[in-house]
Amino acid sequence: MSLSELSVIARYFTGIGAGRDDVRLGVGDDGAILRVPPGRELAVTVDTLVEGVHFLADVDPETLGHKSLAVSLSDLAAMGADPAWATLALTLPSPDEVWLQAFAQGFDGLARAHGVNLVGGDTTRGPLSITVQAQGLLPAGQGLRRSGASPGDLIYATGTLGDAALALLAQQGLYVGSGRLDGLVSRLERPMPRVAEGLALRGLATAAIDISDGLGADLGHICEASGAGAWIDMTRLPCSEAVRAYIAETGDWALPLSGGDDYELCFTLAPERQGELEALAQRLGTPFTWIGLVEAQPGVRCQSEDGSLGSPPAGYDHFGRHD
Ligand code: ADP
Ligand code: MG
Repeated sequence: MSLSELSVIARYFTGIGAGRDDVRLGVGDDGAILRVPPGRELAVTVDTLVEGVHFLADVDPETLGHKSLAVSLSDLAAMGADPAWATLALTLPSPDEVWLQAFAQGFDGLARAHGVNLVGGDTTRGPLSITVQAQGLLPAGQGLRRSGASPGDLIYATGTLGDAALALLAQQGLYVGSGRLDGLVSRLERPMPRVAEGLALRGLATAAIDISDGLGADLGHICEASGAGAWIDMTRLPCSEAVRAYIAETGDWALPLSGGDDYELCFTLAPERQGELEALAQRLGTPFTWIGLVEAQPGVRCQSEDGSLGSPPAGYDHFGRHD
C-alpha cells in the first residue's frame, strides 16, 4: 500500500532533530514560526542534492540523510553561525518506507548532534532530489564572510584535504591503492561539518569558506570577494596517508587542490593572532594547518616542491565543461 503525502510527513518527518523551545510552531501548519532572540541575526543557506549528479541511486539512504543536512551545516559553519533550524524539500519517485525510515534516521542523527530542529518542508513525487535549507544564529554583525582577507594574512585549512575525492576514485574503480582506503569512504558519505570550529573562528578569522568544490576554487572565492590573491605552499597541504600515497604513486596533486566534498574550512588570519589559533587547536583537538599567504596580486598560485608556481587544477563546476 502506498503512503499518502500526509502520512509520510507524519510518520517520518515529524519530531526530527533536537527539541528547541524557540520553535513556536514546527511541522504541521502552513509555515513554521521561530523565535529569534534579541540581538541575533539569521544565517540562511540552501543546498540541493540530485540523484545522478550528487549521488547514485543505490547510495545508502541513511548516509544520504546525513549528508543532505551536513552540506548545509558546513555552510553555516563557514559563516560562524550556530545551527538552529532546517527545512527539507523532498522529491521522491515513490514513498518507499524502508528508504524513508533510513533517510530520516540519518538526517535525525546529525540534526540532534548539532541541536537542529526540522521545522518544515515539502514532499512531492518526481525524480529523487533533496533540498535542505538551514538557519543558524549569529550575534548581530559578527558573521564570518568570504570578503575580509587582506594581504599578509595567513591561510589555514582544517583537517585533511582530498580524502572524499580519493574515496570516490576508489569507488569508481579508477584507483586501486595500497590499502588504507576504508576509512576514507566515511569522509565521502558521512562528512562531519566543522561547526564547532566555525563558531570559535568568529571574531578571529578575517575570512572563511567551506571547502566543497576543492581548495583552489574555494580559496579563489575568498580572494575574489576580498579583492586579493593567494600563494599556497603545496608541500604544506594537510593530507591523510592514503592521499599522500596516491600523490607519491601518481604525481597528481588534484585531490587536495581540487577534490570536492571535503567540507573542511579554509580561512584567513591576521599573523598576530596565531597564538590564539594555536590555543584553539588545543581546545578543540582540531588540526589547523598553515598552508599559505594572502597576497595583493589577484589569483591563486600554488608552489610545488621544486619551487615552481602554477595554477590549481579547476574545481567542480556544474555548468563547466567536463571533458
Ligand atoms: P502546504 O500544502 O500548506 O504547503 P504541506 O501539505 O506541503 O503544506 O505540508 C504540511 C506540513 O508538513 C507543513 O508544515 C510542512 O512544512 C510539513 N512538511 C512537508 N513535507 C515535509 C518534509 N519532507 N519534512 C518536514 N516537514 C515537511
Ligand atoms: Mg499551506
